[in-house]
Amino acid sequence: MIEKLITRLDGVKNMGHGRYTAKCPAHPDKSPSLTVAEKEGCVIFHCFAGCPPADVLAAVGLTFADLYPENPSYHKGQRSAAFNAYDVLKCLAREAGIVTLAAAQVSTGHPLTAADADRVALAHERLRDAALLMGIRL
Ligand SMILES: [Zn+2]
Repeated sequence: MIEKLITRLDGVKNMGHGRYTAKCPAHPDKSPSLTVAEKEGCVIFHCFAGCPPADVLAAVGLTFADLYPENPSYHKGQRSAAFNAYDVLKCLAREAGIVTLAAAQVSTGHPLTAADADRVALAHERLRDAALLMGIRL
């Protein structure tokens, strides 16, 4: 699913672990401001210059529905939902679980490894971006 977005962007750099940076298509971007990540089928992206996610997608001719495809049996031919809320909630539940696990780890006096800290940072990004997708500013 991430290829759909990545192939439409300029200056894409693979950062490893399913993470990419690219030039944001929604504003005149000299240095790559856009981060894109996918894990377990969930595509999340963020422009550090503050472009709304919908603008970033619109600039490359995509919509949320392209990144979060509807379950075809879910709406029985009706195409009104922007994305599959069930999949988004599943993704959020997983991210919240990661943050909870990390909090439990730290609260028992065990520091996070660098890899775990990176994963928690990604979870935070996804939760915040999901809120942005819903029009909520945290
Ligand atoms: Zn931007």
